[in-house]
Amino acid sequence: NTLNFSGGPGALPVAVLNQARDAIVSLPETGISVLGMSHRSDWFLSILDEAEHNIRKLLDLPDRYALAFLQGGSSLLFATIPMNFATRSFAPPEYVSSGYWSSRASAEAGRVGPCRVAWSGQRTGFCDLPELDALDVAANAAYLHYVSNETVEGLQFAEPAREVRADVPPLIADMSSDFLSKPVAVERFGMIYAHAQKNLGPAGVTVVLIDRALLERIPEGLPSILDFRTQVTHRSNYNTPPVFAIYVLTLVTRWLLHDIGGLDAMQRVNEAKARRLYDTLDKLDDVVTVHAARPWRSRMNAAFTFGDERLDAAFIEAARERGIVGVEGHRSLGGLRASLYNAVTLDAVDTLAEALTEFGLQRA
Ligand code: PLP
Repeated sequence: NTLNFSGGPGALPVAVLNQARDAIVSLPETGISVLGMSHRSDWFLSILDEAEHNIRKLLDLPDRYALAFLQGGSSLLFATIPMNFATRSFAPPEYVSSGYWSSRASAEAGRVGPCRVAWSGQRTGFCDLPELDALDVAANAAYLHYVSNETVEGLQFAEPAREVRADVPPLIADMSSDFLSKPVAVERFGMIYAHAQKNLGPAGVTVVLIDRALLERIPEGLPSILDFRTQVTHRSNYNTPPVFAIYVLTLVTRWLLHDIGGLDAMQRVNEAKARRLYDTLDKLDDVVTVHAARPWRSRMNAAFTFGDERLDAAFIEAARERGIVGVEGHRSLGGLRASLYNAVTLDAVDTLAEALTEFGLQRA
């Protein structure tokens, strides 16, 4: 019974894994493998409808948002967002550079055209975050981009208080690592996107929610597959979509709606898990350093270290003996990281907390 705290691929709920395993052999609805289902079949069209319906229901998504399932991951969106929205009628888009992934996003935007870094956490080693609402951003900027949860550093923004107004640039958020972990006031955003490998299902599909008013800004002449209107118009079935990933995502949304009881309930579980982990780390503060400054600690990923590589490696080994895997830090930061994505149970976090306490007390 391995407990997976990996920061990359999130563990999936056991109920979902069992259904996915059965579906690989034979889908209950069609009698054939999900891997052999046509993306034009009535079955898949109904899965696409259900996936959209479930996400809309979970988020209470206003009708003015289009929803599409894309491929190419969040990294492709780092390039296509400026291609679609940083048009000549606006000042350059602004980026909050608060860690590894948001810096990748702004670097990519810079390859597409001019962009401005509105705030950077580089000087302080990416361990704190700015107040989004207080940033000095050009009123006519194409948009303001940020990453709601910095997966590598373990930093998470509080939700911005701003309302959508004509004189503030639309907010675009990469929510890859905290999407569907809690409710979100979508109406404050121009666009939200999230790749599927954390809370949503297996890699291969990326969910985008876009205010339809923004779609009107897209310039003509982009390659069709890079123009956000293409998949919106073709209901995410313009070319072959990742059928299996979208199917498993649908199972995950059913689990969230029916087994968990929605995003308020999911948030309560996630808060309890994070409290358990950070309380444990704080009790060991003689021997453990948490990377994120306290107000910005992420409920999804905790990055921390026992102080040097040798000790961190020894903890990875000690954790493995309890069946805990995936606690290595991201290659860019080193150290340790425990990720508490939706499918990680409070029991699993208890086991991790015991392992940390035992290891930490031996070093204190
Ligand atoms: N944004 C965030 C916040 C991430 O955590 C990741 C990957 O972990 C990415 C973007 C990159 O996503 P992809 O690998 O789908 O391009």
